[in-house]
Amino acid sequence: MRLDPLDDNPWHTAAACRRDEAALFFAPSKEPTAARLAREEHAKQVCAGCPVLLSCREHALAQPEPYGVWGGLTAAERRVVLARRRRRTAELRAEAQLVPAQRGRRIAG
Ligand code: SF4
Repeated sequence: MRLDPLDDNPWHTAAACRRDEAALFFAPSKEPTAARLAREEHAKQVCAGCPVLLSCREHALAQPEPYGVWGGLTAAERRVVLARRRRRTAELRAEAQLVPAQRGRRIAG
């Protein structure tokens, strides 16, 4: 596991990656693309069988963790998820602002 051993979050203790080398989850410097893709795929296979995948993923998104495979997602995939969440939040806020305005129009009309 790659988290602070003094941190007592309970999900850490059930992590499947406790048994794996950290090198599987983090890129060495100057890693060729084909090697990175293969390593990330292998890491994702470990994550797929992990009982705390969702907790790990949410942790990595909340930090956000800038490197490595966490919760079955690469850093690039997490950036996409975060961008989608920001966009969806903005849409919901915009909708929430429209609803009172539309109500006002109905009352006035
Ligand atoms: S989901 Fe993957 S990175 Fe997260 S704790 Fe499990 S094995 Fe480790």
